[in-house]
Amino acid sequence: MGAKGWAGGILKFLMFQSVYLPQSQEDFDFFYFVVQWPGAYCDTKSSCCYPTSGKPAADFGIHGLWPNYNSSSWPSNCDPDSKFDRSQIEDLLSSMKKNWPTLSCPSNEGFKFWKHEWEKHGTCAESVMDQHEYFEAALKLKDKANLLQTLTNAEINPDDGFYDLKKITKAIKDGIGFTPGLQCNKDRERNDQLYQIYICVDTSGTEFIECPVLPKGGKCPSKLQFAKF
Ligand code: AMP
Repeated sequence: MGAKGWAGGILKFLMFQSVYLPQSQEDFDFFYFVVQWPGAYCDTKSSCCYPTSGKPAADFGIHGLWPNYNSSSWPSNCDPDSKFDRSQIEDLLSSMKKNWPTLSCPSNEGFKFWKHEWEKHGTCAESVMDQHEYFEAALKLKDKANLLQTLTNAEINPDDGFYDLKKITKAIKDGIGFTPGLQCNKDRERNDQLYQIYICVDTSGTEFIECPVLPKGGKCPSKLQFAKF
């Protein structure tokens, strides 16, 4: 076969591959799975509104599942044609209301928050999961992480007490096997409170991994408050 023949063969193979074989190439490096302590969200100056279904349980709520790059930047709003479609997650709604509660004002059911998360972050993971799989993956990760139980087992309770950053980090590491990123915010009295926990997840959205990079903003001091809710 001459050079032209080879080139033609390779071209045909590439065309076949791109049309018929699933593409495993993801366009991001890992996920941040981010959960939030509602007490810290609500204690800030800007306050919060409970969802229409009532005050959420005193538990971590999901904030999002965010595709990220190893360089620490991230893609966002990747597919303007892929709109949030509530009919695709009908079967997940009761679990979403419990585990992914909205706290923004005015009080609402949560669709606005979930729409934002899908359109900003979820659409950047469409190479590995569709809308139903995206929300389901986050719900499963929350169960798997079992963070509140892990912390209370280590006698770290949401009781307005102040705890060592190192102790919180270690308890979570002992529980899930990997070091989390912790983010703090300030309440109205300017106390630093545990606000969000970042756990890194592989591109399948199922396995916890060591974080390639930890989140930069909202660093916690060596002692921080675990607010009541
Ligand atoms: P993101 O753009 O995914 O980084 O999320 C930030 C946006 O989500 C901001 O507009 C926040 O006010 C909003 N947000 C964060 N937590 C909640 C929550 N529990 N309920 C409603 N909105 C939230």
